[in-house]
Amino acid sequence: MQLYIPTKLYSEKECVKNHGGELASWGTKAMIVTGKKSSRMNGSLDDVETVLKIHNRPYIIFDEVEENPSIETIMKARNIGIEEQVDFIIGIGGGSPLDAAKAIALMIANPEETEEVFYESKELKYLPVICVPTTCGTGSEVTPYSILTIHKKRTKKSIRHKIYPELALLDASYLKSMSRLGLVHTAVDALAHLVESYLNTNSNEWNRVYSREGLKVWAQFKESLAKDCICDVDYEKMLRASALGGMAITHTGTSLPHGLSYPFTYECGYSHGKAVGMFLAGYVCLYKDAKEVGDVMRLLDFDEVSEFVIYMKKLLGDVDINQDVLTVSVENIMADAGKLKNYPFAVTREELMTLIEG
Ligand code: NAP
Ligand code: ZN
Repeated sequence: MQLYIPTKLYSEKECVKNHGGELASWGTKAMIVTGKKSSRMNGSLDDVETVLKIHNRPYIIFDEVEENPSIETIMKARNIGIEEQVDFIIGIGGGSPLDAAKAIALMIANPEETEEVFYESKELKYLPVICVPTTCGTGSEVTPYSILTIHKKRTKKSIRHKIYPELALLDASYLKSMSRLGLVHTAVDALAHLVESYLNTNSNEWNRVYSREGLKVWAQFKESLAKDCICDVDYEKMLRASALGGMAITHTGTSLPHGLSYPFTYECGYSHGKAVGMFLAGYVCLYKDAKEVGDVMRLLDFDEVSEFVIYMKKLLGDVDINQDVLTVSVENIMADAGKLKNYPFAVTREELMTLIEG
């Protein structure tokens, strides 16, 4: 048993401004890594720029991170970062910019390495990373994971290196600019992390501290999310559940729904949360330990698994399943021993092909 979450986390209104000195103390020149638009709209970029100016820290902005960031984008940012001699990275946004920030931090600290190194086992240093999340799904602000799109393989994959952010600054007010669909899909991603972590080969009574608490928090906003009446307290809980989900998967990894999701994101353009969420009810139904499934249902405040299945269908709406993509997903995961071993039971291709039906 081992618990390890080295990221220092603050969560409060005006979090970035309140801890600006600490944020700026991580280096002498920052690279802000963010998406194309949203951090300008929700005020997070402005808040970070303000504190860097107050603390006289020069910075550059790389605002070209696309959803599901590609290796090409990381390498472009890395060249700029080396040229500009930045020595710390601030990721602002959803999981895409935060994951990109980690991979960029790795590549700038190791300028002699090529992109091949992402998937090699090698002990490498990385620049300090600070994360300001603006979605409520990935928990990337506390996980060591960075998931990149590999165009050559037409899918996504977590890099081999573990890059823990030094500091995470959580301000739920940044979530308020999200679309309904964005909120639903990212909240479902957080739910998937919590469920896949609880129902996982690597779970134990110590690391279930995170999934158990996260599932309880998720239960508290599940009705508001379904009815589309989210209030300030709910936003705070959504961000908390997301960070707890990140802490949970840091210890256990994810399981079958995440493993199956990647080709659907790549080939069908489904958001990460939707692509994962469409397998979640099926995962709970497939899971062969009824007591543990019962625990999850109780924590989420559902009387029966069937209630959960109906809730998920209502939340995600109808989902089109391309059978060819599903076949690729199933073949990929059957060849991925690392992902399969997180599911504690034997699983067949047929079971995976019908997982979507719940
Ligand atoms: P995302 O891909 O980071 O962002 C999705 C969209 O939401 C983008 O268009 C973004 O706009 C927008 N957006 C972000 N914050 C917003 C806000 N506050 N208001 C309005 N729009 C906002 O979404 P995500 O679901 O958070 O991240 C998904 C990525 O994280 C995937 O690549 C997934 O594989 C990865 N992931 C990582 C981990 C981990 O542990 N590291 C875990 C799970 C998933 P802009 O582009 O303009 O910013
Ligand atoms: Zn996820």
